[in-house]
Amino acid sequence: MKKVADNIEQINQVINQACQKSMRNPDEIRIIAVTKYVSIDRASEALEAGVADLGENRDEGLLQKWEVLRDKPVWHYIGTLQSRKVKHIIDKVEYIHSLDRLSLAQEINKRANKTVNCLVQVNVSGEQSKHGLSSEEVIPFIKSLRPFENIRIAGLMTMAPLTDDEHVIRECFSTLRELRNEVQRLNLTFAPCQELSMGMSNDFAIAIEEGATMIRIGTALVGEED
Ligand SMILES: *Cc1c(COP(=O)(O)O)cnc(C)c1O
Repeated sequence: MKKVADNIEQINQVINQACQKSMRNPDEIRIIAVTKYVSIDRASEALEAGVADLGENRDEGLLQKWEVLRDKPVWHYIGTLQSRKVKHIIDKVEYIHSLDRLSLAQEINKRANKTVNCLVQVNVSGEQSKHGLSSEEVIPFIKSLRPFENIRIAGLMTMAPLTDDEHVIRECFSTLRELRNEVQRLNLTFAPCQELSMGMSNDFAIAIEEGATMIRIGTALVGEED
């Protein structure tokens, strides 16, 4: 496999180009290395190469790596989260990118010992196979979170549809940005909603052009092992 450091260099070039195109500052973009397909060693290599943030989409994967790497990285939980798993990960992660229902918010709020940064997952494209709230549900949902004092809505997250049609992908990301701006205009203290978690290996350049502040990159950054 290619060195993570070499992959980072390539990714940074793409980030810089996308930032130039959209007149953004590359410092605004946080790379989350998605390590779900790779070993603890490979995740360590990413940290040594300068990655600060790791993302996992299953509690088992997160716990295994956490046992070894502990607080070296900032941990992001990016996958579907069952309520009964919350207690296992809650004190280990800094961000949960997949808040998509009230029952989950209730459980996070109950189990948390400190404020947890949550991103609301939005299914912008409306694909059946994807988790997340519809665009229309987002504002009412966020307003309903006011009673949960341990939850801070840090932003919104989405996954673009699987397609080669750049226009469709771009539309998905720009819709999420507009929705984020709408939440910000509500001026809710528990929902500053600054972050846009969008863009993966195949579409992160478009995501950056459309305002992404967190890109979640697996294959292009750490690769895939079996
Ligand atoms: C796996 C995964 C990623 C990374 O996907 P790549 O295409 O390998 O970059 C990003 N976000 C989520 C939610 C994932 O499950």
